[in-house]
Amino acid sequence: MDYSKMIKNFPKVELHCHLDGSVRPQTIIDIAIKQNIAIPTTKLNEFEKYVKISSECNSLKEYLDKFELPIKVLQSKENIYRITSELLEDVSKDNIKYIEIRFAPFNHMQAGLKVEEVIEAALKAMSDGREKYGVMSNLILCVMRHEFPEKSKLLVEIGKKYIGKGVVAVDLAGNEQDFPPEIHKEAFDLAKNYGFHCTIHAGETGIEKNIIKSIEILHAERIGHGVYAFKDEKVVKYLKDKQIPLEMCITSNVDTKAVKSYKTHPIKKYLDEGLMVTVNTDNITVSNVSINDEFGHLVREQNFTLEDIKKVVKNGIEASFASEDDKNILRKEYRKAIEIL
Ligand SMILES: [Zn+2]
Repeated sequence: MDYSKMIKNFPKVELHCHLDGSVRPQTIIDIAIKQNIAIPTTKLNEFEKYVKISSECNSLKEYLDKFELPIKVLQSKENIYRITSELLEDVSKDNIKYIEIRFAPFNHMQAGLKVEEVIEAALKAMSDGREKYGVMSNLILCVMRHEFPEKSKLLVEIGKKYIGKGVVAVDLAGNEQDFPPEIHKEAFDLAKNYGFHCTIHAGETGIEKNIIKSIEILHAERIGHGVYAFKDEKVVKYLKDKQIPLEMCITSNVDTKAVKSYKTHPIKKYLDEGLMVTVNTDNITVSNVSINDEFGHLVREQNFTLEDIKKVVKNGIEASFASEDDKNILRKEYRKAIEIL
């Protein structure tokens, strides 16, 4: 079977995609020129190394440095709209039917935008994108681990009015090494009370304890990455018994050295053991990867079968924070695609 064609044509969902890690490099250059923002070069082929990871990347910290320039241009309503819209256009070409885009609104206020304006600019592009590109989407608001807990609570307070209007969840992102999840407990207690879904980056950089902590203390319904669950069989069993979806992003994990190589990633082991695995990109630009590339790696390096591909796509639909109506649309498209395989 020609897997690459099958993967390309198969309707897919993406649950873990950072807006600031998925900006077209040429767009950063265009905006920088227009707005007089200092960038190292305006030549695309030379510029790419400042926003895409290279094989010399040594850590999550170094990986996170690649977000500096994209964030510099994500400081106006027009630019947030344009970049969100372009992301939807890009993923539509990979036949992604539903995407959850995430970002940290507080990172986009350097030029005076209010939190509401940041969120609304993205939401407008997302509602327009449904018509324009045929991609359904929802927004996840990221609390940054290094921020003061008061600021996390503020984001939840401000964000709650967008529940049911395109915002579906809060996430905890950033430097996992130095900031344990429990620091932000109050913000996530509030989020749960207000009706946000919760998903949390945990077990990405070796600290498997953060996985259960995030579920039990911060109410995470899904885990971002969860790579290091294997360090403790109890964690693996817990994830399996409770069927907690894992938003896995294997290229990103190779980039940040969370795993040594595609071959040593535990994704197939988790899938075979019955964990609820989903496949995502994390950062399309920073990791220089598309969802179809990710599936290609899984087939070549992890021996994913057709059944495995079908399973993780189905898991993605079921684990999504989409409305029941939208999930039904996705389920229907999935069934249609299965029939003609
Ligand atoms: Zn992430």
